[in-house]
Amino acid sequence: MNYPSIFNDAIGPVMRGASSSHVAAAHRLGALARDYVNGDFHTVIVDYDPSTSLGPTHESQGSDMGLFTGLLGWPVTDERMAASETHLRETGVDVDIRIIPYGATHENTYRLTLRNDEEDLVLYAISLGGGMVEIIEINGIKVSLFGDYFETFIFSDDMSAADGIEADHIIERDGCIQIKSQRPVTVNGDYQVRSMGPVLPIGARKDLQVPFANSEQMIAYNADKNLKLWQLALKYEAARGNISEEDVFEKMREIVRILDKSIADGIQGTSYDDRIYPAQAPLYKSRMGDNQGLNLGLHDDVILAVTALMDVKSSMGVIVAAPTAGSCGTLPGTCLGVANALGLSEDQKVQAMLSAGLIGVFIAYMATFSAEIGGCQAETGSGSGMAAAALVTLFDGSMEQCVDAASLALQNTFGLVCDPVANRVEAPCLGKNVLMAGNALSAANMIMAGFQALIPLDEVIVAMHKVGQSIPCELRCTGKGGLAMTPTGQKLFQKMEGGS
Ligand code: SF4
Repeated sequence: MNYPSIFNDAIGPVMRGASSSHVAAAHRLGALARDYVNGDFHTVIVDYDPSTSLGPTHESQGSDMGLFTGLLGWPVTDERMAASETHLRETGVDVDIRIIPYGATHENTYRLTLRNDEEDLVLYAISLGGGMVEIIEINGIKVSLFGDYFETFIFSDDMSAADGIEADHIIERDGCIQIKSQRPVTVNGDYQVRSMGPVLPIGARKDLQVPFANSEQMIAYNADKNLKLWQLALKYEAARGNISEEDVFEKMREIVRILDKSIADGIQGTSYDDRIYPAQAPLYKSRMGDNQGLNLGLHDDVILAVTALMDVKSSMGVIVAAPTAGSCGTLPGTCLGVANALGLSEDQKVQAMLSAGLIGVFIAYMATFSAEIGGCQAETGSGSGMAAAALVTLFDGSMEQCVDAASLALQNTFGLVCDPVANRVEAPCLGKNVLMAGNALSAANMIMAGFQALIPLDEVIVAMHKVGQSIPCELRCTGKGGLAMTPTGQKLFQKMEGGS
């Protein structure tokens, strides 16, 4: 069973760029492909099927940039990544990006060909949302890999080629043996062998067990323990990743520090040419200082922090996809905006983000963070549910209150469509992140006042997933509906594409 991890699926990756399902997922795919051919390739062909959401969005939302950054062997935080295609070409690599139909059945399908003097590598892969990627075919052989293992391929029909190899999984494929191991393996004998190292922060392992996989199981697990949600998050992630609870806590502390820096940078002001909005956070900050407009108190601090994070994302600064890059403002901006305004400690912020991460794990387990599958409710909606739990944690609420706040917040997100203008993750994304932050504030306060969530969290997540899938595909990150198709949206599209 592939249980989600807080750091793989819900809070992270730390990255640059507008979209985790485009930039971060493509970066991981590029890194895996580079590894497979040992960095030896002179030609790259990237194929997008026009029937998929990547057809119209691969460039504007950063798939190409992420892919080329991974192929160059650079980290996904490399500040040169906007110019990665140029850098790749300057190393002598031929790059061809094609829009051609090839029968892709998933909205986020990549077909990537790397060529060197000896061989072609042809990969099919899908982006699963939040930076997660699955390679589903290698050179005509159906496989399944997520970048959470050392993967070794022995091209032989003779299973004895894997004799003596210690691995979690040794799988007979049609034409090769796929080996999944926690460490690199050595293959004896004269076989063609290819390998890829892991790209996810938390690895997988055989017979992986977690103490609970949904909120109902968690509540039962906690019946005789009376732990807070953040403590349960520590237990879950420690079991999931085979690491200590202290390591989990410190990993989240690193993320909180990155987020706090990004918020400060955004408030200071950001600049980047290829964006629709100019920097918005300094405007909001100065309005707060001037006492212009309504004084919303803590809500103002949250709007400012959410906007700062979205500004940083749009200027190719470093953000944390939490749960996705497009929704990078909702959860961190709400949680840290409140915590910083009230002068709460770093440990409290870490605890709150852990609680949010565990709610994210439940969503990833039963639904998706992919807007291509579930619309914006999958992104900012999920972030709102996670943020509501984080807020209750900041105010020392119970595990049950955290879960109920997440449930209530998620209930209000159903039907939220994804219709980014000009295929940029800016408008209406900024507004939706702010909207969902307000939803989290309200839900947390309502639950702490004694309101009832009524529908249990797990049922809400399952229902949310079903609603998401029933949103017309034009309104699921394809740029073919909603605000994207308004006359002004179309004009902006032309302008951003370099037209008049
Ligand atoms: S509308 Fe929502 S889901 Fe779509 S790109 Fe913007 S933030 Fe992401």
